[in-house]
Amino acid sequence: MKKIALITSGGDAPGMNACVRAIVKSCLVKGIVPVGYYDGYDGMMNNRFKEMKTEDVVNIIQRGGTVLGTARSEEFKTVEGRKKAIESLRQNEIDGFICIGGDGSFTGASILGDEMSIPVIGIPGTIDNDIYGTDRTIGFDTAMNTVVTAVDKIKDTAGSHHRIFLVEVMGRDAGFIALETAIASGAASVLIPEERSNIELLAEDLRSQGKRRGNLIVIVAEGDDAGGAKEIHSKLVPLMEGYTLRYSILGHIQRGGSPSAFDRILATRMGVYAVESLLNGENNMVVGSLGDKLHLTPIKDAVSKESIPDLEHLKIIKALKTVC
Ligand code: ADP
Repeated sequence: MKKIALITSGGDAPGMNACVRAIVKSCLVKGIVPVGYYDGYDGMMNNRFKEMKTEDVVNIIQRGGTVLGTARSEEFKTVEGRKKAIESLRQNEIDGFICIGGDGSFTGASILGDEMSIPVIGIPGTIDNDIYGTDRTIGFDTAMNTVVTAVDKIKDTAGSHHRIFLVEVMGRDAGFIALETAIASGAASVLIPEERSNIELLAEDLRSQGKRRGNLIVIVAEGDDAGGAKEIHSKLVPLMEGYTLRYSILGHIQRGGSPSAFDRILATRMGVYAVESLLNGENNMVVGSLGDKLHLTPIKDAVSKESIPDLEHLKIIKALKTVC
């Protein structure tokens, strides 16, 4: 193997740069040329790339976002779009491909690899943590820490004004961020897409926990079946007479920032492992970390099997309910 292409694709996540650095450096050590394509599949289709050198990855381990850029591309989902990408990869004499991204990006990588007959390896980079075959995805730990820091600040004002705050966190389809940060921030309750939400029961629960005039936090995953924080706030207000409720949507701050030590280490280990896997003849696999050991899961399983948070954690939040 002489040349490996790499992209960051789909939603950005803190730690992607640490992973790019690890892939580039381990390629260079082994005499392989790493070719970084800009803006995911978009750059691949439009022949925008750079043969990466050590100086391209100096001082990026601590940077959030992705120096390669990322994008979503509908064109790449078409045969014609992928033909353009394949032309660029052939011109560059690419003989292996590493894709850092989520489910959609891995599906694209697998189709591309089959059409072009080159091996592909995926690395899970998403703050949502919703990839089958790994306990943790790159970026999840940093996003959780960002949420916890923000909620700590909201708790100061919630406490001072005796208010109940609904805090909306990212998670259109998955409640990992909501569930874990609810525990870490001492929330009174949490609403996640994996559990049916009942606003009347929530109101009852908050009233029983908030007899001393509020000062409670409810973490809401943006994809909860009862709606986002704004919608749930409007449903809750009429049921919570005597209490003051506010909501806060944390939004894109959850994607940014310098990656945590955990994410840097995970990203670095996964990057090195992906290059080794390609050299060992692996193909159509996603790198995962289970019980802190790295391993490979077939892409077809990683993209088709569901990854759901540990719902036992809901019991922890209930077990620690405020007793008034
Ligand atoms: P993520 O990788 O975070 O799940 P997306 O689902 O948006 O993000 O996928 C990223 C990109 O991967 C898409 O914009 C598209 O270019 C490519 N992709 C996704 N699904 C497919 C598919 N079924 N076939 C080919 N390419 C795909």
